[in-house]
Amino acid sequence: MHDKPSVLTLTEQLIARPSVSPEDAGCQQLLDERLAQLGFVNESMFFIDTHNLWSVRGSEGPLFVFAGHTDVVPPGPAEKWTTPPFEPSYRDGYLYGRGAADMKGSLAAMVIATEQFLAKHPNPKGRIAFLITSDEEDKFVNGTIKVVEALMQRGEKLDWCIVGEPSSSETLGDVIKIGRRGSITGRINIHGKQGHVAYPQRADNAIHKALPALNELAQVKWDQGNAHFPPTSLQITRVQAGHANNVVPGELFVEFNLRYSTEQTAAGIKEKVQHLCHRHRLVDEVDWMLSGEPFLTEAGPLLDATREAIRELCGIETDASTTGGTSDGRFIAKTGAQVLELGPCNRTIHQVNECVSTDELVKLVALYERILEKMLL
Ligand SMILES: [Zn+2]
Repeated sequence: MHDKPSVLTLTEQLIARPSVSPEDAGCQQLLDERLAQLGFVNESMFFIDTHNLWSVRGSEGPLFVFAGHTDVVPPGPAEKWTTPPFEPSYRDGYLYGRGAADMKGSLAAMVIATEQFLAKHPNPKGRIAFLITSDEEDKFVNGTIKVVEALMQRGEKLDWCIVGEPSSSETLGDVIKIGRRGSITGRINIHGKQGHVAYPQRADNAIHKALPALNELAQVKWDQGNAHFPPTSLQITRVQAGHANNVVPGELFVEFNLRYSTEQTAAGIKEKVQHLCHRHRLVDEVDWMLSGEPFLTEAGPLLDATREAIRELCGIETDASTTGGTSDGRFIAKTGAQVLELGPCNRTIHQVNECVSTDELVKLVALYERILEKMLL
């Protein structure tokens, strides 16, 4: 390949750094250097075990943020990879390596798009920032959430944000994410009284006690969803109880997870479940873990610009979706920023032989650049 596009070279350099979450393995140093050359002021924010980079160029005007993560999921069994996961290699128009699609390719495309944009327009009408973490794939506790807290504390206002998560499905730009469902997990320990199955009157069967409540929990119709979100769904994910066929179990543990729309709030869900538990006399408290509240970016300049850029450069109408798991977009949306996710196809993410189309990566640079032009000129 002669005249290799610079986005491929930078993606290769990132893939070659084995940044399994929460390791950054020098990826941010590389981005830091590229951005510094463009006049960005870099601030590294280290929390506990996680490298984060906040980098801003410009001093006035609205703030456009590119957000993403340098960490990757573990490669899995190395022998299953056709070429080693941290040795970038090309086959049939695809660049292979762990993180190629999720999301080192996007990070490289954001940097190259910014370089090209600033070369043409050195004085845009606004500021550009990069919010990069190495803590997205695993624990997400010392990454974007902490950076956003620090930024909010100092009164930094984020206006628009593109997250480089691999949003596309079959072809670049066919799907963007304009929000995500919320995710909350509940766990209950139900106490009865253990005993001999032959003497049930001396025992209190925790499974029997739980069944009507669990049945009702599984049947709840939370909402119909709305124009942007599918209906809220509760799934019971674990039930543990029992020892032997002659013992009435005295304890039962149940876990359930809800993926919820903007028709619900975490507080409302907690209250409803708690109420159901009390009604069934499962007196114990529910133990909750809120992984993410839902967010939604409605019609506005960022969504318009992104739709138009995809129409102009990819020749398709994008599908603005809220499906999929949670992403760091949920933390950034807390600042009040409009947040969208736009990145390459997600067909191979987290898999063995993860790859990204080289043509699509080149086109992604053009997309990001066009969005910058629409927002900042
Ligand atoms: Zn990702």
